[in-house]
Amino acid sequence: MSGTFVGMPAFPQAAREAVGNATLRGNLRHATHTIRDKRARAVAELDDWAALREAGKQIKDHTLRHLDRYLVQVEEAVTAAGGTVHWAADADEANEIVARLVQETGESEVVKVKSMATQEIGLNEALQARGIHAYETDLAELIVQLGKDRPSHILVPAIHRNRGEIRDIFRSEMSEWGRPAPEGLTDTPAELAEAARLHLREKFLRAKVGISGANFVVAETGTLVVVESEGNGRMCLTLPETLISVVGIEKIVPRWRDLEVFLQTLPRSSTAERMNPYTSMWTGTGDGRAGEGDGPRTFHLVLLDNGRTDTLADEVGRQALRCIRCSACLNVCPVYERAGGHAYGSVYPGPIGAILSPQLRGTGSEIDASLPYASSLCGACYEVCPVAIDIPEVLVHLRERVVQGGPAVQGGNRVVLKPAKGHAAERAAMRAAQWAFTHPGALRTGQRLASRTRRLHPRTLPGPGRAWSGTRDLPAVPAEPFRDWWQRTHGGKGGAK
Ligand code: SF4
Repeated sequence: MSGTFVGMPAFPQAAREAVGNATLRGNLRHATHTIRDKRARAVAELDDWAALREAGKQIKDHTLRHLDRYLVQVEEAVTAAGGTVHWAADADEANEIVARLVQETGESEVVKVKSMATQEIGLNEALQARGIHAYETDLAELIVQLGKDRPSHILVPAIHRNRGEIRDIFRSEMSEWGRPAPEGLTDTPAELAEAARLHLREKFLRAKVGISGANFVVAETGTLVVVESEGNGRMCLTLPETLISVVGIEKIVPRWRDLEVFLQTLPRSSTAERMNPYTSMWTGTGDGRAGEGDGPRTFHLVLLDNGRTDTLADEVGRQALRCIRCSACLNVCPVYERAGGHAYGSVYPGPIGAILSPQLRGTGSEIDASLPYASSLCGACYEVCPVAIDIPEVLVHLRERVVQGGPAVQGGNRVVLKPAKGHAAERAAMRAAQWAFTHPGALRTGQRLASRTRRLHPRTLPGPGRAWSGTRDLPAVPAEPFRDWWQRTHGGKGGAK
């Protein structure tokens, strides 16, 4: 992954700062509760939701098992349809490819459809460094870009902003980027939407190059699919002469008919709609003869790895690659609701971010090593996930990896781990527990001693345990050990002696 967010503090520190922001907490609570309630109603309308969920899981797992074959099939199909396929091993390579393709057109401006993959690789910053201006056209992404901000939600990147803040951003920043905000702009949704529409329209009509991601790539035909709600995607995909799509290799589905499942589960899980307003599909440059038909005259597909094949190699962690970026897990997560998206230090916030970022980037940095702990393991994320990713299972698996991990090693632009050395304090505690449980007499004596001296016990643990007990109450030691109580009240029958 790109280093865009590297340097962020670990999750606990970033979350502590976010939790102190009452406006942010209010915005998040209102937005996530509204979306989650609507999603629950939309899902309840379908009698076969469980079957759809299982089908989505099976399709994704099958594709991931045979990804090598389907990737070649995609390349052949896209090429046959007049497109060009590029392979990018990491963020730097992907950015180089896209920048070169834009420079070859002679243009210095591009319009973008909302795309997590391009955010993941830090494409806008890479293009800017080469003198190319990338304009976000999704309303929420526009707010984030104008506000020199970072996205905090997969689906609603400006979820942390309220209407008044958006009005202020439009008033002060729009003129820097193009058409200014209308005089006397208020914070009513209709006026804000109209201001964005006027600002963006001149960019759509001027742009010669569009950049997108894709929700799905159909292997059998080489067709790319983008689902969206605002119509900005349709403009970016059809008006520019050149279209460049940057897509993670896990976005493939084998057949057209597989879309039947995901085009039902994705809109209901994300925006709580039965069907999203715009579904754009394109295959190469149309009929394979460049220059004819609608849409772009030139099409490039950049297939992005950037840590995905490493993730695929992990039998437990690979289920994260099923994700269809619906954001349902964010909206039900009690940790995300309070900490917000920025605390996760990645373009992938919330529960999916807590399992995806440490796998794509490695667990070597402070922020990535802390992400698997950014969860109460309540399981709400798994319940709502339309492709049944067992996020708690992956979180626990990654915690194990963090605990066993040694110091970080730079490998390319990724951070990987040395072989495990182990957590010395935890190992010592486990050895002591093992000895105590295999020596009942000593355990009994120790429990009685602990009860008698309980008023002298410290309220926090010393040494490395201080961080753990600093945010938790240590359990109070009872005045009488359970074994003694059982003996006194039940004569020790059927239990402890
Ligand atoms: S993990 Fe599941 S619920 Fe979360 S964004 Fe991905 S598909 Fe949606």
